[in-house]
Amino acid sequence: MQQYHTAEDALQDKVILVTGAGDGIGKVAALSYAKAGATVILLGRTVSKLESVYDEIVNAGGPEPAIVPLDLNGATATHYQQFAQTIREQFGKLDGVLHNASLLGYLRPFAQIEEKEWQDIMQVNVTSQFLLTQALLPVLKLAPKASVVFTSSGVGKTGRAYWGAYAVSKFATEGMMQVLADEYANSPIRFNCINPGATRTKMRAKAYPGEKPESLKTPEDLMPLYIYMMADDSNGVNGQSVDAQPK
Ligand code: NDP
Repeated sequence: MQQYHTAEDALQDKVILVTGAGDGIGKVAALSYAKAGATVILLGRTVSKLESVYDEIVNAGGPEPAIVPLDLNGATATHYQQFAQTIREQFGKLDGVLHNASLLGYLRPFAQIEEKEWQDIMQVNVTSQFLLTQALLPVLKLAPKASVVFTSSGVGKTGRAYWGAYAVSKFATEGMMQVLADEYANSPIRFNCINPGATRTKMRAKAYPGEKPESLKTPEDLMPLYIYMMADDSNGVNGQSVDAQPK
């Protein structure tokens, strides 16, 4: 793995939104961002999980986070607009967004994908990111520099049998990032993707039930890159899709 180095307080005074902050990579990213000094906005659908991340941050002496219970499958443009307005009122700016929450669905032959499953995956993995990003652009512009990081996947770069709607949604994520990066190339907002690669989480265990979890990198292993992409160290990096575990 490539090494990324940032100062211990690399995210001091930054306000960073993490979606899917209650579990897996998003949870560890939220904890790591707080440890590096950021005020983290924890967005997710299971309140008890967000509360336990909140407690962990506060108990470690980190900046008090905010909890936003929101199901990305049901939220509308109005919810996202109201949310952006609340960020503006409470924090005055937004320095970073980690679009991390995703729905895997079921791995199955393309011929058997159900329309409802397809739509749910597209809603959570693509449409919600479009609506949320659109709503947040005005508050991102209030930060001196801002970083928006989308979460890709190996199957979002090369299609693979049975990965169906999830794979298609990750291609769309890469596309959304590229459109935004090009459009905002001469602005203080940068847009990039991270592809975490095989990582020890519930989603990975669902996709590969027979695999030994100990054989995989943990979310903690990936954090130097996740912090680097939010820190000022990555200013100037725009339109990139970075593999956390390059082959
Ligand atoms: P997990 O399933 O462990 O965590 C996903 C998080 O997203 C959970 O906290 C979950 O909430 C939340 N979430 C899911 N649906 C919604 C929704 N509708 N509204 C709000 N929150 C939601 O996944 P990982 O940590 O493994 O994955 C994180 C990202 O990394 C994803 O984008 C995934 O596609 C990507 N990725 C992961 C890889 C891996 O090997 N783990 C490999 C390549 C990419 P809840 O806890 O309530 O279910």
